Amino acid sequence: MGGQAVGIVYELSERRVSSMIKVGVNGYGTIGRRVADAVMKQKDMELVGVTKTKPDYKSAVAEGKGIQVYAVDMKSLEGFRSTGANVRGTLNDLLQRVDVVVDAAPEDTGPVNKPVYQLAGVRAVFQGGAGDNLADVSFVAQCNFEEAVGKRMVQVVSCNTTGLCRTIHAVDESLGVSKARAVLARRATDPDDVKKGPIDAIVLDPTTLPSHHGPDVQAVLKGMNIVTMAFKVPTTHMHLHSLILSLKKPAGKDDVVSAISKAPRMSLVDGKSGFKSTAAIMDWAREMGRPRNDVYEATVWRDSVTVVDGEAYMFLAVHQEAIVVPENVDAIRALAGGYKREESMKLTDESLGIRHR
Ligand code: NAD
Repeated sequence: MGGQAVGIVYELSERRVSSMIKVGVNGYGTIGRRVADAVMKQKDMELVGVTKTKPDYKSAVAEGKGIQVYAVDMKSLEGFRSTGANVRGTLNDLLQRVDVVVDAAPEDTGPVNKPVYQLAGVRAVFQGGAGDNLADVSFVAQCNFEEAVGKRMVQVVSCNTTGLCRTIHAVDESLGVSKARAVLARRATDPDDVKKGPIDAIVLDPTTLPSHHGPDVQAVLKGMNIVTMAFKVPTTHMHLHSLILSLKKPAGKDDVVSAISKAPRMSLVDGKSGFKSTAAIMDWAREMGRPRNDVYEATVWRDSVTVVDGEAYMFLAVHQEAIVVPENVDAIRALAGGYKREESMKLTDESLGIRHR
């Protein structure tokens, strides 16, 4: 489990001495399972364990990977014990053994879980849906890693907000962005979720405008002028954004493409190479042998990038299950302290097979 305590910790950072960062993951669903696997790939981290509400094939698979499974509470512990499934204790036991907990529990559980982490004296990484104003910092590694260093609690922003922040930040750094407008076609739900729709409708999400994504971006990119609107479509793979950025500097298509190509965790695809839909991006990830077909990069169609009257237009795809995984890993290092943005992102990217820029 985890990596070996290796020299890389000494080489990259004299501040952290020899200790591995001990990590627990509370909530082992779409995000939690991916973050747990990513933590196990880090040479400077040890995955101490994950929590599950009940024993099932997911807890069995975790065990098969050598991951220690904890019950979320006493009632859940009884459930494990009554079936004879292996379980190491409860969330409270896990919290005694970790430096940082990644909260990947269902939406809106943050306000309940936060005091539990505080009582245990454990630093915490929350997800975008966990609740509002939970943490000291809203986090996207390439935008504001430094703000999170040494803090007790950070919140990795939602998948859509992460994609928007990376892209707007990339263009802003090179060309300046005075205004951002985005229309988001959101996937209905995740592939393994049979309880949510829509199956045959486009659902305004919400009907009142603007959507929450603009203020969420502003929590990371302070002062950014951004307005967003969103609707849900019957698909389970990827969100698609139509993004319009007003540029401060005179620029053409090549300048915008160049700004995006230089930024970390961004990728560019072309329709003429066969990328005509989000399905093609998922297919690419499958062909590349990415774990669970995960696309960690925010993906922009190069041929969609068009500049008219100082405004840059583009299509942006976000793989909702995967894009926040590298951010979680960097958030753990930021909370642990002793890392610079560049060294953390390099370690994360190399471990996940993301081209590091
Ligand atoms: P999920 O439903 O797939 O997983 C949540 C897991 O937590 C489930 O396995 C569930 O059984 C377990 N659980 C239930 N009650 C629990 C409790 N009290 N304590 C601990 N675990 C409990 O959810 P998810 O999609 O992984 O979302 C987790 C968080 O990540 C949410 O805040 C969500 O908004 C955010 N997020 C989700 C996505 C996505 O597309 N799925 C993307 C970015 C961020």
